[in-house]
Amino acid sequence: MRILVTGGAGFIGSHLIDRLMELDHEVICLDNFFTGRKDNLLRWFNSPKFELIRHDVTEPIRLEVDQIYHLACPASPVHYQHNPVKTIKTNVMGTMNMLGLAKRVKARFLLSSTSEVYGDPEVHPQSEDYRGNVNPIGPRSCYDEGKRVAETLAFDYHRQNHVDIRVARIFNTYGPRMLEEDGRVVSNFVVQALKGDPVTVYGDGSQTRSFCYVSDLVEGLIRLMNGDYIGPVNLGNPEEYTVLELAQKIQSMIRSGEEVQFKPLPQDDPRRRQPDITCAKQKLGWQPTISLTDGLQRTIEDFRNRIESQTKLPSSVPLVEV
Ligand code: NAD
Ligand code: UDP
Repeated sequence: MRILVTGGAGFIGSHLIDRLMELDHEVICLDNFFTGRKDNLLRWFNSPKFELIRHDVTEPIRLEVDQIYHLACPASPVHYQHNPVKTIKTNVMGTMNMLGLAKRVKARFLLSSTSEVYGDPEVHPQSEDYRGNVNPIGPRSCYDEGKRVAETLAFDYHRQNHVDIRVARIFNTYGPRMLEEDGRVVSNFVVQALKGDPVTVYGDGSQTRSFCYVSDLVEGLIRLMNGDYIGPVNLGNPEEYTVLELAQKIQSMIRSGEEVQFKPLPQDDPRRRQPDITCAKQKLGWQPTISLTDGLQRTIEDFRNRIESQTKLPSSVPLVEV
């Protein structure tokens, strides 16, 4: 199949492309490189089955493809709040453009939605029929409401134009290739601990999240795309931890001391979050397989290598005359 992955140079998108290339598909990656990096895709540059296009999904594009994984959108609060209007445009105009493309070429379309559609949930754990508790005018709204409109668009294109859609609600996912300065909790804590800095816990650290390793998530996305169930379906790991527990776990794995710097809790930060994955189990036969300890070990290894290669850089790379 010829498969389009928008946001394919980013964290989840590049892992998804690895799997699709290994399955011998033709893959086109569209990315504007806001938070994505070409480095994530270097291993495929010489493959005739791989194509990388610099393109912003807020602009229309014409391509011939069989499936579209629509991932283009910054995912870290730091990045999506950097230019909130652009985040809304990406979620609304970008999703509309990609749904329009799917309609024209009759491609199957998968939307990467988010647990943020549940906002600060009053129901715990969250199942797909919960309609959420989202602040429509807060600093997170550009992302939360943007994704809610993206879901609405997907279902309206499905009902009105018979576009073959799939909708995944992704919960916090982590793993190798997250950006060092990403701002999300796992990458922040790992980088801080590796550098011997105190970890920055927002609030008192009693808020909870449930962390899914990226290879598990990619498996769920591929099953959803290729099965019969439209969704929405929660994809996440139901093991729930407080942020303070996560900090302590990462510090103990890196043996970096126990210093914690408490910082103010950001506005509208959800108090707790845990996916009910009954639907994914029943409809996709999917559940996560990688424990937090294993996943963190692989993530720490990746960050350690990257940080070490940066510190080696000045002595090993010759200076370029300018
Ligand atoms: P990421 O920031 O690493 O990747 C996003 C990619 O989209 C980047 O390569 C970026 O350059 C690209 N992009 C952003 N705006 C674009 C635009 N206008 N046009 C073209 N490309 C654009 O984030 P990620 O963690 O890989 O997330 C991927 C998708 O999964 C996002 O849609 C995100 O909302 C969703 N998601 C992720 C998580 C998570 O925990 N990682 C949780 C829920 C949902
Ligand atoms: N967080 C934290 N320290 C950090 C980064 C994040 O305590 O350095 C907290 C954040 O306030 C939130 C949780 O960790 O309660 C998860 O944050 P992240 O940005 O990873 O994802 P999201 O809030 O979108 O779930």
